[in-house]
Amino acid sequence: MVSIFSKIINREIPSEIHYEDDICIAINDINPKARIHILVIPKKPIENINSSDENDKEILGHLLLVCKKLAKKFKISESGYQILTNVGEGGGQTVMHLHFHLLSGNAVTL
Ligand code: 5GP
Repeated sequence: MVSIFSKIINREIPSEIHYEDDICIAINDINPKARIHILVIPKKPIENINSSDENDKEILGHLLLVCKKLAKKFKISESGYQILTNVGEGGGQTVMHLHFHLLSGNAVTL
């Protein structure tokens, strides 16, 4: 099944795009849980970390570096931020297309 994120990537559904390159896209979360809540999503429809493999190494590393780049852009590098990814329904994942949440403003405490 085509995920909502693939539809956003393909411009079938509008979204505020903060960053895009050949590998990923970064958008505002529609239901933000923090002052800054951005989703960094690979264009390749990997379901989650469980279904990623060695071939996805470059994509996974790239997503983290894009989070860092966005943290700088949104001036949260110094104050701090969180990068979070949910895996599977039991892990709180609701959209089955890998994404990193970049959060700042009110921390999720672990
Ligand atoms: P998950 O629960 O899978 O880790 O995170 C999915 C996130 O996607 C949620 O925080 C939810 O608010 C967000 N989301 C779901 N549908 C849409 C949408 O259509 N557009 C955007 N921008 N975010 C969405």
